[in-house]
Amino acid sequence: MTCSELAELVTAYLDGALDERSETLLVVHLDGCPACRTLLDQHQQTVRLLAPAASEPSPVSAPACRDALLAAFRDSSR
Ligand SMILES: [Zn+2]
Repeated sequence: MTCSELAELVTAYLDGALDERSETLLVVHLDGCPACRTLLDQHQQTVRLLAPAASEPSPVSAPACRDALLAAFRDSSR
């Protein structure tokens, strides 16, 4: 596998969408290629940053919701 082939497959690899043979080739290439390990790291960080927002939008609104609840409790105890 070449570096550019790996770059094309890295997204599928992170999705777990690669077939076993391609995944093995990719892992073997990563083992001997620090540049592609860096590439994979960057992709993983991007996926980690994007995944929560994409899969569940609630963490963004949850703190606002909690603040509203706290404000409601504060008002009712007054
Ligand atoms: Zn490489």
